[in-house]
Amino acid sequence: MNYNVDKDGFYGEFGGAFIPEMLYHNVNELKEKYLGIIESDEFQKEFKHLLKDYVGRPTPLYFAKRLSEKYNTNIYLKREDLNHTGAHKVNNTVGQILLAQHLGKSRIIAETGAGQHGVATATVCALMGLECIVYMGEVDIKSQAPNVARMKMLGAEVRAATSGSKTLKDATNEAIRDWINNPEDTYYLIGSVVGPHPYPDMVARFQSIISEEMKYQLKEKTGKDSPDKIIACVGGGSNAAGAFYHYLDNEQVELIAVEADGLGVDSGKTAATTQVGTEGIIHGSKTLLMQNEEGQITEPYSISAGLDYPGVGPLHAHLFKSGRGTFLGATDQEALSAAYQLTKLEGIIPALESAHALAALDKINLKPTDCIVVNLSGRGDKDLETYIKML
Ligand SMILES: *Cc1c(COP(=O)(O)O)cnc(C)c1O
Repeated sequence: MNYNVDKDGFYGEFGGAFIPEMLYHNVNELKEKYLGIIESDEFQKEFKHLLKDYVGRPTPLYFAKRLSEKYNTNIYLKREDLNHTGAHKVNNTVGQILLAQHLGKSRIIAETGAGQHGVATATVCALMGLECIVYMGEVDIKSQAPNVARMKMLGAEVRAATSGSKTLKDATNEAIRDWINNPEDTYYLIGSVVGPHPYPDMVARFQSIISEEMKYQLKEKTGKDSPDKIIACVGGGSNAAGAFYHYLDNEQVELIAVEADGLGVDSGKTAATTQVGTEGIIHGSKTLLMQNEEGQITEPYSISAGLDYPGVGPLHAHLFKSGRGTFLGATDQEALSAAYQLTKLEGIIPALESAHALAALDKINLKPTDCIVVNLSGRGDKDLETYIKML
């Protein structure tokens, strides 16, 4: 079985490009050109240079000694929290901003929910001196003031989406409308392994630096380049895709994806897409999503803003359906406990998203000889208010 994308943009039955006619030109241009550009020596040289000197890669693979003792196994943390801007998201925005330059685009648009992808996009636009417009739901603008301030300081224009529920999906609609109206000079920078083909594959390739480094770092530390299990949280699925990428076809490695159960899978307040979702089309891609009987997207919920997404990328829908991936969930409370535990045992405050991955350690069988990698997707500074409130 092959878990990579096929030439039409499908992972098994999921993926593709289900887009309005008016977007065909934009998406087709990307599809025709992306591989040629990102596989070129020139691009790879620029990309690797920025990852090293700007982002601060390679990120360490840290053996968490006290956490390992607690679980009587061997746990390594892939420290994406140590990247510039505090999470894995910048790996992708650096890659796409270079691609946009190679395509000759001068104007960058993005949508953001909690603002983290907006900040990562505004960051690389400042770096390259490119115009940046971030669409954000009016409701989210109010609740995520610090990230809005960051984007503005970085020089981005934050435009409010005022229709519908005034959240992420409405911001997405506005961004798509903008792209349709500005097909020549504008590049649409998507933040996870979602959207029409080729975005899921492109974002997975940029994030695959995570497992590329993991392979040689594990070899150095353990003598073997593969672990027994890799655990990563899944919102749209980009940090998990990057952590799984170079092990997708190695069935010896168990791939564990952790979704946000929120207040509980059956509570109606959840973001556990593979558990409560059904097949449908979201953001131009056929995948699993949370929707009601009429096909209206239902609002997801999680204490963690980055996991609060009503879909999951098509790669993950395929990993779920095929059984290649193990899909677990962690509730708000379980994630909070896991975050406090990591902080006390290792002196690392994780992002609330990453805390969901850590919570899975309580839900799986661990042997003393096992080698486990947890992808620590981000740092917890942004979540301090929530942590303190919940103490
Ligand atoms: C955005 C975010 C996530 C979720 O996004 P994915 O595309 O699923 O990786 C996870 N962790 C952190 C720290 C984030 O900022």
